[in-house]
Amino acid sequence: DTVGANLDRAVAAYPDRDALVDVPSGRRWTYAEFGAAVDEVARGLLAKGVRKGDRVGIWAVNCPEWVLVQYATARIGAIMVNINPAYRAHELEYVLGQAGISLLVASLAHKGSDYRSLVGQVAGKCPRLRETVYIGDPSWDELTAGATAVPRKQLAAAAAELSCDDPINIQYTSGTTGFPKGATLSHHNILNNGYWVGRTIGYTEHDRVCLPVPFYHCFGMVMGNLGATSHGACIVIPAPSFDPAATLRAVQRERCTSLYGVPTMFIAELNHPDFATYDLSSLRTGIMAGSPCPVEVMKRVVTEMHMGQVSICYGMTETSPVSLQTRMDDDLEHRTGTVGRVLPHIEVKVVDPVSGLTRPRGTAGELCTRGYSVMLGYWNEPEKTAEAVDPGRWMHTGDLAMMRQDGYVEIVGRIKDMIIRGGENIYPREIEEFLHAHPKIADVQVVGVPHERNGEEVLACVIPRDPADPLTLEELQAYCDGRLAHFKIPSRLRILDTFPMTVSGKVRKVELRERYADPAG
Ligand code: ATP
Ligand code: MG
Repeated sequence: DTVGANLDRAVAAYPDRDALVDVPSGRRWTYAEFGAAVDEVARGLLAKGVRKGDRVGIWAVNCPEWVLVQYATARIGAIMVNINPAYRAHELEYVLGQAGISLLVASLAHKGSDYRSLVGQVAGKCPRLRETVYIGDPSWDELTAGATAVPRKQLAAAAAELSCDDPINIQYTSGTTGFPKGATLSHHNILNNGYWVGRTIGYTEHDRVCLPVPFYHCFGMVMGNLGATSHGACIVIPAPSFDPAATLRAVQRERCTSLYGVPTMFIAELNHPDFATYDLSSLRTGIMAGSPCPVEVMKRVVTEMHMGQVSICYGMTETSPVSLQTRMDDDLEHRTGTVGRVLPHIEVKVVDPVSGLTRPRGTAGELCTRGYSVMLGYWNEPEKTAEAVDPGRWMHTGDLAMMRQDGYVEIVGRIKDMIIRGGENIYPREIEEFLHAHPKIADVQVVGVPHERNGEEVLACVIPRDPADPLTLEELQAYCDGRLAHFKIPSRLRILDTFPMTVSGKVRKVELRERYADPAG
């Protein structure tokens, strides 16, 4: 199916069920209304001259219009380009030029960002950009009003031109390890992936999926939006950007059955002072992904948030994104110790990063994936594509992993995050996991920082539970002593209020490394 054809099925099967709810504004759409609203935006885009293969940028925080643009562009085969709402003018200019965007849909303003003025600063330097439409502005009304000039049969004719392997989306990677890269994805890539992720956690038309994760990222738009609509479930938007209280409120008010987040979001929700006052009993499942989940956090998500069927997913933007996922009936050990097993129609293998030979089960190596989910390539960057996807169509993930005898995969860490201290390889994840259980630690990140003699030293960056009583380096070392190998024990400690994050909610370790490279700095 194309994304549009798949939506048509849901509209036909569940016309009166909720498709989309925006909690901040109180607006809601049934599937029949949602299908009609998507068609209206699609015809509005056709009226503006947007055709198959044209790039339409979306530079907006989470809102219903984001979702309408996602399905409307897919309906006519335009390529939607997700632009990070945290970008500043020069980054916007880069993406507009790199992707050759002709029409941009943008938020007006959010948390101190005035998108209209930022667009104004760069528009003159981007000759391909013909027009910008702002959400919640007369220009949006003008877009949808344009639909009346386009007969329905023109929309049907545009849909008839589409093939499942056409590109419909350019998504930039999170930029956790460097500059974001634009993965180009087809109907086939993202629709199938959303479908299988949803099916693995048992979605039906009775599910209501709370999405505090950004739509800009594949977690929101594929695992969230497509995961929901391909099973007739409802998308619930709690807030324009992540807000723990708004998320908990949305779950309670909309009786959500599923909640998504990266581990840091669940940590913020669980530690919110009003956490205990919310009724979260409607939850049954959800997805935690993007970075490793500490065991303590998983236990609280299962018991205190009622998410007994919560699923862990492993994926990356370049693979649509998910390739490994835990199953609903997996035990807690598999849901904390592993990222699950491979999804149907996808292959994974663990190879020696140097020789490329497959490593035996139970030994670590680079994880590679292959199947329908592998991107078409990085947009206009054939060299980078060739570095990531080998001639056998295997995607090299840059992650170190180990496959257990039972086929479940453990993520050991990113190749780039591995710390080498005095010749010993150290995986930060193991130390983070260990330190998470310390009563004074709310959250912790471990990175390697340069050291003259040892090559690298282990630095722990800690967010304390009580800022008035932070942990000392002596306490930390005493806690580790005798329980962690001596070379893994952090020799440096920083107490922080927050971590530098990507917009998808991941900690930018690269920034911690740079910031604290100098012990005196
Ligand atoms: P960039 O490629 O720009 O540096 P990024 O790799 O963080 O950024 P994404 O595509 O958003 O961009 O994230 C994919 C990566 O996230 C994976 O390669 C892996 O390192 C990490 N990841 C995803 N899911 C999990 C998980 N469940 N457990 C551990 N790590 C995960
Ligand atoms: Mg990556």
